[in-house]
Amino acid sequence: MSTRKPFNSFDMAQEQFDHVAGLLGLDRATIDLLRWPLREYSFAIPVRLDDGTTRVFRGFRVQHNDARGPSKGGIRFHPAETMDTVRALAMWMTWKCAVVDIPLGGAKGGVICDPHDLSQREQERLCRGYVRQIAKNVGPVTDVPAPDVMTSAQHMLWMLDEFETVHGGKAPGFITGKPVGMGGSLGRKEATGYGVVFAIRGALKELELRPQDTRASVQGFGNVAQHAIELYQQIGGTVVAVSCWDQQDQTAYTFRKLPGVDLAELRAITDRFGGIDREKARDCGYDVLPGDQWLEQEVEILLPAALEHQITADNIERVRPTVRIIAEGANGPTGPIADQVLKERGVFMIPDLLANAGGVTCSYFEQVQNNMNYYWEKDEVLGKLDRKMTAAFLAVSELARKENLYMRDAAYVIAVSRVAEACRERGWI
Ligand code: NAD
Repeated sequence: MSTRKPFNSFDMAQEQFDHVAGLLGLDRATIDLLRWPLREYSFAIPVRLDDGTTRVFRGFRVQHNDARGPSKGGIRFHPAETMDTVRALAMWMTWKCAVVDIPLGGAKGGVICDPHDLSQREQERLCRGYVRQIAKNVGPVTDVPAPDVMTSAQHMLWMLDEFETVHGGKAPGFITGKPVGMGGSLGRKEATGYGVVFAIRGALKELELRPQDTRASVQGFGNVAQHAIELYQQIGGTVVAVSCWDQQDQTAYTFRKLPGVDLAELRAITDRFGGIDREKARDCGYDVLPGDQWLEQEVEILLPAALEHQITADNIERVRPTVRIIAEGANGPTGPIADQVLKERGVFMIPDLLANAGGVTCSYFEQVQNNMNYYWEKDEVLGKLDRKMTAAFLAVSELARKENLYMRDAAYVIAVSRVAEACRERGWI
């Protein structure tokens, strides 16, 4: 029997924090405050099912830190949800908001459930039940939820409606990720993927590479990947391969076309879950390769935009020496051992907390528009996003250069010191 401890994301989040706390020389009280969430809620949600019986679900909401502003983070519906996963994600949200310097803290929520087993009406009752349990502890000026794994704009609208029913009056800023026209922001769809490319553009400049002289390989072909590919191609880059998950085969495939993939052509043969039709892809001239082949393409940029823990000790040697930049579109795609190898190789790492922060930045813009009850054009949203992401990238890369730090460490140093400073200035520590 293996004695290896199962992977626990909160352990990992705390280890990352401990490393940065060491770099910053934080005092004991600051460490104790930031190593754990400020507040945690765990509650039962009884839901009347369509057959008249009642099932009780378990819900969580964790507010890791709100020294810089109301805490912000999605609500996940997942059968394997745990308090520890929610704690880790809440902590990562605190750092992500701080690194892009938006006035928000970090939170996360979850419900242990599989929405596939629930009808639409049961899901609606679950959303409303979740909000009733937590309505006094969240709100536009305290803690603002958003969609996440297996929750959608529709779930957000049900939650908003329940929140407004409990409190009376309209409060669109209570939740983000709403549909456009119902308080949602234009540009939210593009925000995370475009944000990744704003950061890649900064890295290319720093490495004195012209986008048109670079190639990329991408894991995933969902929301983040498709929009990242769109903007990267617009600035002149070539994408040679993308990979995605095949629901039917329950396996991943890589789709390669040289000199480069055609985004419009691929989108036309992709389902709404980001799965590409293999037969049609072959007809369009794509090589259909095993799912992990995206990792070993001869490219300058790797863009993991699917899942956590994809570049690991087991496959790091397959990453080609041509790779100069890794942009983490997904959360936590690089394992700690692989990360160390990449650091030693001098690969320019754009860490998740910076690379994919475009999403939460646009959610913040959504809240700002809700508060004003005035909505910006898409160009205005994307222009503001570009400025925020570029400023954050430059702050991190400048610190990395000045202090000879790995980009991930530099991003963490900036984020953690901003939060620690806010706690100190408030007189908490
Ligand atoms: P999505 O569901 O739209 O797309 C996921 C894609 O990954 C799909 O194409 C799917 O086929 C593919 N995929 C799944 N398993 C795979 C595997 N084993 N190998 C190859 N491909 C696989 O999701 P998304 O919104 O694009 O999010 C992608 C990642 O980015 C997630 O880690 C998410 O947490 C993170 N993220 C997303 C946002 C956002 O705004 N959407 C913001 C921050 C971080």
